[in-house]
Amino acid sequence: RQDTTLTGPIETTLCDYETVESVNEELFNNLSELVKTPFFKYFRVDLYRDCPFWEEHGFCMNRECGITTVDESEIPEKWRAAALSKVELPSDEQRQSLPGCYYRDSDFCFLDDLTEGDYIDLSVNPERFTGYIGPSAHRIWSTIYEENCFGVSDAQEELGGAAPEAGQQCLEKRVYYKIISGLHASISTHICAEYFNQTTGEWGPNLPCFINRVAAHPERLQYIYFNTVLLLRAVARLGPYLAAYDYCSSGTHADDARTLAVVGSVVALAREAGRFDERVLFQGENADVLKEEFKQHFRNVSRIMDCVGCDKCRLWGKVQTTGVATALKILFELDEKALECVSSLTPIPTSSVPGADIAPGSPRSNSNLLQRSEVVALINTLYRFSESLHAVGRFREMWAAADAEA
Ligand code: FAD
Repeated sequence: RQDTTLTGPIETTLCDYETVESVNEELFNNLSELVKTPFFKYFRVDLYRDCPFWEEHGFCMNRECGITTVDESEIPEKWRAAALSKVELPSDEQRQSLPGCYYRDSDFCFLDDLTEGDYIDLSVNPERFTGYIGPSAHRIWSTIYEENCFGVSDAQEELGGAAPEAGQQCLEKRVYYKIISGLHASISTHICAEYFNQTTGEWGPNLPCFINRVAAHPERLQYIYFNTVLLLRAVARLGPYLAAYDYCSSGTHADDARTLAVVGSVVALAREAGRFDERVLFQGENADVLKEEFKQHFRNVSRIMDCVGCDKCRLWGKVQTTGVATALKILFELDEKALECVSSLTPIPTSSVPGADIAPGSPRSNSNLLQRSEVVALINTLYRFSESLHAVGRFREMWAAADAEA
């Protein structure tokens, strides 16, 4: 039996498990409300692009693998493709360099072409057990783990490179692994928390599933916390920008004020528990090369998502890789210089978010800093991790009850 209680510092962060747990229920409640609002629930994504790495035939025929799309007419007008194309479309040059997809240099992932794809209401397509198993799913995961090969650091390690340098580079490699393994463990936790029992025909938590896939490997559970801290740090850093964002949809003024207030609460909690120290990464002599490699690997992970043979899994795979990539971009690309250039522009409207008045990055003055899909993915990904920790709490109770009965 494994004890799933975690205490003390979370490795490579300035935070401990207790702090994350002390904020998580409130965070989970706030995020649960936020992801149901029109701004955060609609995600535009192109789910039917060819797998760029191999011919994928592993389509999941299970009903649960399917998703329902939303007609464009239901989407508030300002977020539709026509309106977005005025501000968000890539330049011809960007398009030519990568037909069908593009990225800006700072991006850690490939963002789908915003003029293609479907609108999905994420709130009615929850990530849960779909029955997508077997060689297709395994191939995706193993390909993602294989991306954890860094030329610079691996070469140095092989040569038994100088201690501080090699140590530094190893850290980035470890961080990459933790991010992927933590994401995998979080997805597994959702599958086990909302599992379909084929014998009874009922949905519910499956404790043995959670034990086998996550709890029996304590580091996997630790990495869920690690990713949560990383995402929280990104949200905390983005706080002023989020405070000034225009969430206005077809809703009323009261609805918009409420959305802003809930965002404010999430940012406040993120400031409390999001103590990830991004300054320790990408510091060595080859820092720039390593950062480029890291970025390249992450972009590949986002492309591998086009190979996932189950629509709903692909959807959430894309949302979450975009969410983590956005967090990485916020931590490693939006340095003080990037924020400075907007600090003297439009004054930020008064809001409930502490620190909004000293905010550097108002979306109104810098609409290119992040795309709407990146903001939506970031918050929904944080929600998924917070939900995983919430589910872990329930599994601990189930385990204790099973122990008491035994
Ligand atoms: P898998 O989870 O497929 O793992 C494969 C191997 O990786 C394991 O045997 C183990 O050696 C190793 N491993 C497992 N977990 C970790 C970890 N955390 N860290 C390091 N190594 C690990 N299925 C659904 O039912 N619903 C979904 O929404 C869903 N979304 C998915 C999204 C993506 C992007 C992918 C690739 C798959 C998704 N799947 C989903 C499938 C699901 O993740 C599993 O692949 C499937 O349930 C089979 O599980 P498994 O127990 O065989 O091992």
